[in-house]
Amino acid sequence: MNNRYKLSSYVVVTDLIDANTSSDPWRIVYATRTGRTMKLKDRIYRHLVAGDFARISESTLIELMSLEVIVRADEDEFEEVLRQNIAALENSKTLDVTIQPTANCQLGCTYCGQVHQKKNVDTETSVKITDRICGNLVRGQYEALSVEWFGGEPLMAFSEILRMSDRLIGFCADKGIRYDARMITNGLSFKPAVFQQLLEKQVTHFQITLDGLGKTHDLMRITKEGAKTFDIILKNIVDVTSLPEYMERRCSILVRINVNERSVKTLFKLIDLLASHGLQHKRVRIDFAPIVDWGGNNAQKDSLTADGFGVAEIDWMMYAIKKGFTFGRVVPNKKIGPCMVVKPDSEVYDAGGNIYPCYEYPYTPKYETPEYRIGHVDSIDTVRNADAVTKNWFTDIKGDISPCKRCNLFPVCGGGCPKQWYNGDVACPSYKYNIEDKLVLDYLINKKGFVERYRDNPAQDPAQDPARTAA
Ligand code: SF4
Ligand code: SF4
Repeated sequence: MNNRYKLSSYVVVTDLIDANTSSDPWRIVYATRTGRTMKLKDRIYRHLVAGDFARISESTLIELMSLEVIVRADEDEFEEVLRQNIAALENSKTLDVTIQPTANCQLGCTYCGQVHQKKNVDTETSVKITDRICGNLVRGQYEALSVEWFGGEPLMAFSEILRMSDRLIGFCADKGIRYDARMITNGLSFKPAVFQQLLEKQVTHFQITLDGLGKTHDLMRITKEGAKTFDIILKNIVDVTSLPEYMERRCSILVRINVNERSVKTLFKLIDLLASHGLQHKRVRIDFAPIVDWGGNNAQKDSLTADGFGVAEIDWMMYAIKKGFTFGRVVPNKKIGPCMVVKPDSEVYDAGGNIYPCYEYPYTPKYETPEYRIGHVDSIDTVRNADAVTKNWFTDIKGDISPCKRCNLFPVCGGGCPKQWYNGDVACPSYKYNIEDKLVLDYLINKKGFVERYRDNPAQDPAQDPARTAA
């Protein structure tokens, strides 16, 4: 056994979680090859690290092997995980596409890298886009289509979205293909009547950004004319989530909070405000994201350091949990790729009919040159750039473009954001910097009664909580 097996490189282990209260303490072991966690006695963990498998009971060994904490000794784990990911993507039966039907947006966010124009997709181009998607569905024998509407601000092309949705939904219904859609919107036009029409077109999940409380948000997310937007967007979210059909159809809204030195100061108050509207009970979730460079605009200059963000994120999450918000699973699940750029037929379509691999490329001057484009709907059947930047991620990751091949989080991460690595930036997600804290938080959340006790203690300061100190 000892010679044939080894401790996987794809393992994260916490410090002792009960060192103060137990003479036989535990750790949490996170096997990133399966995305699963287990509690393990420290004394067994020490046998594991020493390769002394003979001193571990058979039942524990079986569990460790099923989690892929222990793997075959002769296996090149990076190559094996990559091979499995490529095979899983080739066999995927869901086609993911992003449609950016307008180059227009009412906002002029300070960190946005796009250059906007009053241009919506015209009818002829929109038909070519939907024909292209339908053709890919048939050629790839897909069983499901998942559409993301993005922009500019997608609701500036509202009627185009309704018409394109009709064509795609009709085609999928005819062919017995499942259909779902979601939208990233700035929320300014997200009125109940708009939501109701989108719901008819099966758009059920939305992402809307609020960058801190009122005045702070209004410093970063103003209209092009300089008008404030926070109150309008928040009212829209509250009004939409109050509609019975929002809950009945199991819709959801992800409130994205872009964090920099400014917005960080009002983050707890923003969470308080969202909770005061009862949004934690309305399938509204919160996501914290650092502001990064967008097409060479240096937007990250006021961001927290990656480490600083990682530490603070745990406190924000705990505070939000205390207020009743949920985060699904706090630690990431196993992932077969970083994002849509590695999926063979996944494409991004802009209002001019250009086809890209990544949704941050359209309308951004840095990415206007041909190497960033897969092609154009007019000529894609004959001219296709299979080497558009990011498309060769699975080959390039074996080289020096990033440290991913040496990272123990690779099976749950896939490589962060490939676009950033190709730009020479570091693209690790925040859990690179706080995974041990997240493991402890995940453990506590799953402990029966913990969340209720935590919420019921109004005096508790998140920074002083046992979940922070245990790690
Ligand atoms: S992006 Fe960062 S965290 Fe993800 S696999 Fe690469 S090095 Fe690891
Ligand atoms: S490369 Fe980065 S920005 Fe582009 S789709 Fe992937 S994660 Fe998003």
